[in-house]
Amino acid sequence: MTKVRDVIQRFELFAPKEMAEHGDPIGLQLGSLDADVHRMLISLDVRPEVVAEAIRENVDFIFAHHPAMFHPVKSFDLSVPQNAMYAELLKHNITVYAAHTNLDNANGGMNDWLAAALKLDSTRPLLQIHELPLLKLAVFVPKSAAESMRKALGEAGAGQIGEYQQCSFSSIGQGRFTPSAQAHPVIGKSLRPEQVTGEKIEVTLPYRLKDKVLTAMLSAHPYEKPVFDLFTVGGLGEKYGMGRVGELKQKMTIIEFAEFCKQVFSVPHLRVISKDLQQKVKKVAILGGSGGQFYPEALKSGAQVYITGDISYHTGHDILANGLSVFDPGHHIEQICKTRLKQKFDVWNKEEDWQIETVSSKLNTDPFKFI
Ligand SMILES: [Zn+2]
Repeated sequence: MTKVRDVIQRFELFAPKEMAEHGDPIGLQLGSLDADVHRMLISLDVRPEVVAEAIRENVDFIFAHHPAMFHPVKSFDLSVPQNAMYAELLKHNITVYAAHTNLDNANGGMNDWLAAALKLDSTRPLLQIHELPLLKLAVFVPKSAAESMRKALGEAGAGQIGEYQQCSFSSIGQGRFTPSAQAHPVIGKSLRPEQVTGEKIEVTLPYRLKDKVLTAMLSAHPYEKPVFDLFTVGGLGEKYGMGRVGELKQKMTIIEFAEFCKQVFSVPHLRVISKDLQQKVKKVAILGGSGGQFYPEALKSGAQVYITGDISYHTGHDILANGLSVFDPGHHIEQICKTRLKQKFDVWNKEEDWQIETVSSKLNTDPFKFI
């Protein structure tokens, strides 16, 4: 039976929790990691109408982009709609998980989906670039276990360097130990000093594979107390960052580009801040969600247009004064995640042989209507 834990572990290989912004309440929102999953609903938001949809669709797991619990619960008064929603979820045994800024930051995640929808070329992160470190594992095994250990590490994904797989380096040496009276040594006897010819196997691995590789190493190790070193290698890890800057294939005027964005993001209107609607646009920055505060980075990047949601009146004035053009198509354009996440989960479903059904929410959870 597939557990919530299995689905989440696979997802977090793609968008590790460590990529989330500090203080973002991501992860398991409600329910249990040990709950079974038969059918999951993928949604941008967790709102009462989404929960009603989940119950109608008979799902046992909601995977959402926006955390359900942005605001802490101070009482469990069921006359509060948000609390009544949690009660409905609990009553119907529906587990809820949220992947927010870790999905925004992931390479191949939210901001890449938005940039790809605009067909941007040569994209790079808009905001500060962070790094998940490269790790190096050195594990010490008796020679008899070396081959199976190298195989286990390689199968877990360690030792991939560019187009080369299962890369490792070994050195032979002497290991020494004295088991206590309570120990259960595989080699040697209690209270007798032992010396064994062993192999030190060294592999590199990306941070996102840490748990998977360590689990594989520990289960392949013959010793009661495996000996290993794990350390980070600076500067060679996976780089990631929020937002994207890239170039349009063809120049367009601000007006033409605004029409293009309306069509791409299926919005009836978008708000435009610009001094010159006939200006030609080639370089564009985009950041899903509420990115008004980051307009200085968009300016610095050389983008002529910055696309983001939830721009406030005064921020709009500052943007205009700085000569940047900004489109605010709303926050709801992040609904792109519903189809893109479904595609990913459908691939993993086959690869991992989960046999779960995935459905994308059909609801529009944008709180705004244009009249
Ligand atoms: Zn958002």
